[in-house]
Amino acid sequence: MPSETMSDKAVPRSQVPTAADVDGVPDEDPHLANFTAARILSDTIRSTLGPKGLDKLLVSSDGKLIVTNDGASILDRMEIDHPAARMLVEVAEEQDARAGDGTTTAVVIAGELLRTATDLLEKGFHPTTIIKGYHAATEQALQILTEQITDSAFDDSTLRALARTAVNGKWDEDGRAFLARRAVEVARFAEDDGVVDFERITRKAITGGSYYDTEVIDGLVINTDTSSTEVVSPGPNLPRTFDDATVALVDSELTIETASGQGTVTIDSPAQRADFDSFEKSIYRDHARRIVDSGADVVFCQKAIDKPIRYLLAGEGVLAVERTRRDELQKLQRVTGASAVPDTDRLTPADTGTADRIERRTIGDTDLAVVSNESETTHTSLLLRGGTERVVEETKRVLDDCFYVLKLALRDEAIVPGGGAAETAVAHGLRQHARHIPDRKQIVVEAYADAIEVVPQTLATTGGYDPVDTLLALRTAHHDGDTTTGIDLDTGDPTDMLAAGVVEPFAVKRRILTSATEAANLLIRVDDVVPAATDEAEEEDHDHGPGELVAQDEGYPWAIGHSMGH
Ligand code: ADP
Ligand code: MG
Repeated sequence: MPSETMSDKAVPRSQVPTAADVDGVPDEDPHLANFTAARILSDTIRSTLGPKGLDKLLVSSDGKLIVTNDGASILDRMEIDHPAARMLVEVAEEQDARAGDGTTTAVVIAGELLRTATDLLEKGFHPTTIIKGYHAATEQALQILTEQITDSAFDDSTLRALARTAVNGKWDEDGRAFLARRAVEVARFAEDDGVVDFERITRKAITGGSYYDTEVIDGLVINTDTSSTEVVSPGPNLPRTFDDATVALVDSELTIETASGQGTVTIDSPAQRADFDSFEKSIYRDHARRIVDSGADVVFCQKAIDKPIRYLLAGEGVLAVERTRRDELQKLQRVTGASAVPDTDRLTPADTGTADRIERRTIGDTDLAVVSNESETTHTSLLLRGGTERVVEETKRVLDDCFYVLKLALRDEAIVPGGGAAETAVAHGLRQHARHIPDRKQIVVEAYADAIEVVPQTLATTGGYDPVDTLLALRTAHHDGDTTTGIDLDTGDPTDMLAAGVVEPFAVKRRILTSATEAANLLIRVDDVVPAATDEAEEEDHDHGPGELVAQDEGYPWAIGHSMGH
């Protein structure tokens, strides 16, 4: 388990560590203990960076295996107790929430800023000087980064380059291009005036087939046969397609209600049995009749539907889908205009909505209902395919990053070259700037420049190239004014990243620099870790499942949330 190193060496569980707990760190400096813990974490995920980065195999306590090279997913699932290391996890979470991509880079740079800070502290620099220097360096770095923004036209081919860069790892060139194309199609669909509305996108991971079977479907796709959702009364007489369908949404169970405490009925005689049966039947008939009377052709129910009701409805030609997830019920409300009612006795024709077409489809082994309204083109669904559940889930994670990247790029229309080019340019600019700083901050700003260069160096290492040679070659190119030069990971050569189509949103890079510096500075400011009473309310469950694209309620409407986990 990846966290073992942390737990065994640097992070004694359930105990506040002191400098002495960390191997090889002298007792005197509590800073160094914190830095070491944070750096071990950063080093752990470093090898996953970039298209040649390696995967990590994560084993959860219940034995579930996850293969991923997504920094955020890895950190999310690691058991990390050391408070200083946890702060780096927070960097990743913040990066993920605000930019959706760049998590590994943010953590790797934060770790590197702590490494250079260690050297500076050993040379006798005061923490305050380092903090101020890092702060000033970031301001300057952001300025330089702004100058790296390309003047590329914002057409689909630029968007596909962005998507291909975000979809790195795992796939060959063709696979990346294929997925990038699908992602751009979906993002463009959900875009209005530069704003991509994630509410209009549904992603479904369907096991089976290859990723080339991944398809984009106009309309809202609802699973109808997973453990959570089931078509309960397809009946051979029910059509596969409902045109001009009337849709009803019910937010409760379709069953016989039993008041609590009256759950058992004692039946003493055949007459009572018959009474009871007819009582049951009448309730079932009431449910079915109310649905039929509303004019519905299809009913989606948030909970279970008792079997007899399914048969009654099927007999009337009504398709009943049970256990539709609440968020999907909300999407159905938006797509069809129906309002979900708490019970069938509240259902009126006014509560129903319409869909131009509802089609039952089977993809792989999965039964689906595709709800589409041609007139409104409000919703699109991406059906991700792959050989095993793990593969499809990872594809989904990677594509989520991709959607955020497209969203940010479309919002700002600002991109910078990737492959270590932007970082090398920033480091180069910072060193030039540092020369004009008359005091000790000059050294700190130079240290910051060194730290940023961890990105091209790590990319080189993961590609099997010498990090020092690569760095020197990139520095030379940038010195000669080739400011878009990064590393081509197929050859190891310095290459123009714009020509190679390796580009990233400016917003992602900007966020990386600010969150990495903030985290490093916070840790440099901390000179001791003391136990404090826990505030229960602040305890969060960090064991997130694969995230859903959901809007966060405040601040960053485009932020990724993991609230639909598991
Ligand atoms: P993060 O979690 O930080 O997004 P990734 O594993 O996605 O980490 O790697 C992102 C880094 O990989 C960026 O620096 C990006 O520029 C670089 N990268 C992506 N594709 C390529 C490529 N084809 N050639 C060189 N570098 C690439
Ligand atoms: Mg990425």
